[in-house]
Amino acid sequence: MSISTDTSTARPPAVLRALIGGAVHVPGEPGYDAARACFNVTVDQRPAAIVEPRSAEEVAAIVKFARAEGLRLAPQRTGHNAAPLGPLEGSILLKTNALDRVCIDAPTRRARVGAGCRWEDVVAPASELGLACLHGSTPDVSVVGYTLGGGMGWYARKHGLAANHVVAIEVVTADGQIRWATHEHDPELFWALRGGGGNFGVVTAIEFELLPLEKVYAGALFFPVERASEVLHAWHAWTADAPEDVTSVGRILQFPPLEIVPEPVRGKSFVLVEAVFLGDAEAAARMMEPLRALGPAMDTFASVPPAAIAELHMDPRDPVPYDSTHAILGALDAAAIDRLVEAAGPGSGSALLSVELRQAGGALGRAVPGAGAVATLPGEFAFFAVGGADPTMAAKTSADLDRVGSALRPYEAGRYFNFVEEEADAAEFFPPTVARRLEAARDTYDPTRLMQANHEIGAAR
Ligand SMILES: Cc1cc2nc3c(=O)[nH]c(=O)nc-3n(C[C@H](O)[C@H](O)[C@H](O)COP(=O)(O)OP(=O)(O)OC[C@H]3O[C@@H](n4cnc5c(N)ncnc54)[C@H](O)[C@@H]3O)c2cc1C
Repeated sequence: MSISTDTSTARPPAVLRALIGGAVHVPGEPGYDAARACFNVTVDQRPAAIVEPRSAEEVAAIVKFARAEGLRLAPQRTGHNAAPLGPLEGSILLKTNALDRVCIDAPTRRARVGAGCRWEDVVAPASELGLACLHGSTPDVSVVGYTLGGGMGWYARKHGLAANHVVAIEVVTADGQIRWATHEHDPELFWALRGGGGNFGVVTAIEFELLPLEKVYAGALFFPVERASEVLHAWHAWTADAPEDVTSVGRILQFPPLEIVPEPVRGKSFVLVEAVFLGDAEAAARMMEPLRALGPAMDTFASVPPAAIAELHMDPRDPVPYDSTHAILGALDAAAIDRLVEAAGPGSGSALLSVELRQAGGALGRAVPGAGAVATLPGEFAFFAVGGADPTMAAKTSADLDRVGSALRPYEAGRYFNFVEEEADAAEFFPPTVARRLEAARDTYDPTRLMQANHEIGAAR
């Protein structure tokens, strides 16, 4: 029995339902539309079926079913990076929601979490134990999706990418085998998964190291957007001597005039410096003095437990229509800041919600022994810009993104897997030797290209 891949006529696939205890949704049935929704609401996914397995064994059954039926299989949790996948017609969308176990072992400082867990499921309980996770700017993305692409977070300059703090990955490969990939077992698979994304199997659980951390010194300085040039120049100059203990962001933020935005900032625009410091809070406060001396309108810096920084970046939690652009940048001179402000600052006409530079470098630039496919992130800064993309805004946002992207093009040094939200050949994210090794790993573990990843590695089959 097979599923019709014509999504308009697909009927309840009894075989799939018999295979798993988890939910199965097909077009035309209640629950299908809710299940196919994802974070970026401009993305219209219409898979032949959506499955929500509850165990690695159920995932294995679905893998075998998809292979036997000649369907592709796209694992997904939140759909934060669903845009490159397109409509998924004729594919099975495997939602990992139900794989939601969290287990934190404080003495060994390790967490093992199911593929359905988002960072918010781990950060708070870990923080209560005096431990921190290498999460990024939103607690809303899945631990697995974020980590398979690298994982550049608030501790990145000191501790590098999250992928290189992974100790084991439970994964169901295209042959239907449940594997526990580590440095010792299936080492090439373990290497490829840590940076090569969802190209090698369906990850069902991941085990990773936690940092021993009671407190961080963190917060944001808000200035009126009219001071964008002055503040971003000051922040950029400050980053030149910033130690690896601090990871910081300089950004222009335009809050939309929506009710979901807190009243004090609703509809207002700011230039911000956000930062997270490890180590001594007093030393961190001293380091912030030159930026504080600029006289921010609002200053939220404080010594806080790690859980408190999960929302520091103020990323939206509810699904939104949006479009984005990104580049890894090399060293920036003052002219780069001028170009950014001219393209996206006051007087530019930009309606972008956020235009940011994250300082990279430090541990992000050093490969550790045993690192995965994404051993390092080149460049000095990561640039990311985002704007609303409902039908009334899409064209304007696209033009604004083009303008600011072009302004920084002379400084481009590459792109980073997780920040690219459009179709791309994943080979571009890696040095040529790494890209070839990843393709060889894919040929071994997914020779028929069963897996449908957001950024695909290797030629289609
Ligand atoms: C608001 C926002 C803030 C962000 N901040 C950061 C940040 O600070 N640092 C950073 O590095 N990234 C950041 N990202 C990027 C984010 O890490 C990627 O979008 C990531 O892919 C999200 O993972 P997900 O599983 O939640 O998304 P999904 O769209 O559900 O998954 C993305 C892809 O991951 C793969 N995948 C997911 N789960 C599995 C699985 N179980 N098995 C196999 N493959 C799987 C699939 O190929 C899938 O297409 C941010 C994104 C957004 C939208």
